Amino acid sequence: MEGALTARDRVGIQDFVLLDAHTSETAFLDNLKKRFSENLIYTYIGTLLVSVNPYKELDIYSKKQMDIYMGVNFFELPPHIFALADNAYHTMLAEANNHFILISGESGAGKTEASKKILQYYAVSCPSTTLLDNVRDRMLLSNPVLEAFGNSKTLKNDNSSRFGKYMDIQFDIQGDAVGGHILGYLLEKSRVVHQNHGERNFHIFYQLVKGGEEDLLHQLGLESNCQHYSYLVQGECANVASINDKNDWKTVRNALSVIDFDERDIQVSCCHTACGNSFCDDIHSIAYCAILCPTTLYIIFLLGVNVQVLQEGLTSRKIEAKTDEVLSPFTVDHAIYARDALAKAIYGRTFTWLVNKINDSMENKVSRYSKKTVIGLLDIYGFEVFYVNSFEQFCINYCNEKLQQLFIQLTLKSEQEEYEAENIGWEPVQFFNNKIICDLVEEKHRGIISVLDEECLRPGEATDLTFLERLEEKLDSHPHFVTHKLADKKTRKTLERGNFRLLHYAGEVTYCVVGFLSKNNDLLYRNIKDVMRQSKNTIVRECFASKESDGRRRPETVASQFKSSLLGLTDILMSKEPWYVRCLKSNESQQPGQFDDVLVRHQVKYLGLMEHLRVRRAGFAYRCRYDVFLQRYKPLCPATWPYWRGVAAEGVEVLVQHLGYLPDEYKMGRTKIFIRHPRTLFATEDAFEV
Ligand code: ATP
Ligand code: MG
Repeated sequence: MEGALTARDRVGIQDFVLLDAHTSETAFLDNLKKRFSENLIYTYIGTLLVSVNPYKELDIYSKKQMDIYMGVNFFELPPHIFALADNAYHTMLAEANNHFILISGESGAGKTEASKKILQYYAVSCPSTTLLDNVRDRMLLSNPVLEAFGNSKTLKNDNSSRFGKYMDIQFDIQGDAVGGHILGYLLEKSRVVHQNHGERNFHIFYQLVKGGEEDLLHQLGLESNCQHYSYLVQGECANVASINDKNDWKTVRNALSVIDFDERDIQVSCCHTACGNSFCDDIHSIAYCAILCPTTLYIIFLLGVNVQVLQEGLTSRKIEAKTDEVLSPFTVDHAIYARDALAKAIYGRTFTWLVNKINDSMENKVSRYSKKTVIGLLDIYGFEVFYVNSFEQFCINYCNEKLQQLFIQLTLKSEQEEYEAENIGWEPVQFFNNKIICDLVEEKHRGIISVLDEECLRPGEATDLTFLERLEEKLDSHPHFVTHKLADKKTRKTLERGNFRLLHYAGEVTYCVVGFLSKNNDLLYRNIKDVMRQSKNTIVRECFASKESDGRRRPETVASQFKSSLLGLTDILMSKEPWYVRCLKSNESQQPGQFDDVLVRHQVKYLGLMEHLRVRRAGFAYRCRYDVFLQRYKPLCPATWPYWRGVAAEGVEVLVQHLGYLPDEYKMGRTKIFIRHPRTLFATEDAFEV
């Protein structure tokens, strides 16, 4: 009918690979926008899922929807996070190997929500026995607990992840979800003692203070009003419209009891949390070694440590004189530093303890020794740029560079290298390789982390500013590094002294060096550590007893630890088969249904989605070694069944001719057959059933 919109015009194309050849960025965006306006937030690029945050509840995640997607071929239904989860699951079962789902995108793009949907899908849809239901409940309930302790309201996202999370979901050979294991990455501990305007401390503080039962608060010596605690109101937004702390407390408390936390554990976690709160209010009294206030003393008492010794540790330093030790009182700044360091240490270590405890409870105790395969879910803090960016943003953005590098290596680079190695005619696709930025941060000797660590080794001499000077010496001509001194005239106007700017793959970020050294050192005075280690409370002892117990060895710096844990993560991921979810933020103000063209275009650009599409379109969705392919499909052709006595490649050629593959649908490489579209393979699979 003339003038009427076709379905395609209205809802766009569900796989970008099918969009007209030579798709422009504008056509790409138009398609996303068209779909978004119809509440179709998911679109494929081949098997990669693009998701645009709708900032409103959509009725697409029900059990009924899950059932629709269970066991159905990827391209037969509209794009969905469930389809990707299901495809990963069935491929894992068919190939008996390990997979991971990398969810990326900037802060607020929807990564955590996506990872929760995937976990729910597995928990609800996979086959089940009563015994295993238990493990599944625990996997699901680990989410609210970790979010309470590890998420917070930031200017970008009311529920922003302030730690990285990698979770393995283990399946037995029948496909039952039998266990889980979480690795946590670098929690943003500094938030415990400092929040910027418009931001909050971790959710758990507000949940406890607002929702905690009277008895519990009484036991902890806490008031039920956030205004009493300066650690909670620095950002002046203790109440957030989208968050119901009271209800969330109930959820968390219930979740804690399901995942094997007994009353004592719950009390201890709360007590450690409470600690942070109370310390802060001694800010004035600590100065020049005044006595700590009764609330704090009470909390210290709950921690099971010697009150007097800890009080000494927080207000003075021991100096060894000729014959004995004398106490030298701290200045106000030192006392504040000691107090903050202890509050951060207690919180950070409690968080690690919590993750360990959750892992114990999700451990597969049923079929511990039988063979298992896993699907890993990676949900990490997204790339972020604030008005002022500090050490925390530096670490978070470095982590995002590493994940982008992994994506490039696994898709754009290795894909093209394989075509070359296999002698498949191929027009190379140009893309920006961010390895140069990863090196800038992590290279030995001249990378930013190395320079920072070297400065941290010169206590008393080095400052945040000497760190900046060293960077300027070592990186003066680096194309992705600039400072006020190194900048050209025009850029200099936008860069204050005391800052450095990195040209990240996702855009420019200016970092203020203030605090870099002390945050990287993260030192807790040794005598305070010693007091905590002698606590009567076993959990406090457990939290503070650690590898660094040999006091003489210098603990690894925060950035170095983070760097090695990210290298470890890359190794874990490289050994598995990848799936990708690329989350896009639809607008900056968290408004339902708003699509900001400029913002989305920027993300499409830096995430390399156009390049990925080009590689995908020109490339081949499926490849398989000749011998494996022949073994699998030889029953479909009389000439290859039951044996093909010649060279495998020739057998495959005979086989696909018999199946009627068109010349454009496949290519024969040196060792493998390459098939352009998954539908060709699906049709071949279906031929078994005829
Ligand atoms: P960060 O890097 O800061 O942790 P994130 O990418 O994990 O960010 P989320 O916390 O998943 O972002 O999403 C932010 C908010 O956007 C959610 O709290 C929710 O309100 C909304 N949102 C995200 N995904 C969806 C979705 N699929 N449907 C409805 N709302 C969503
Ligand atoms: Mg998140």
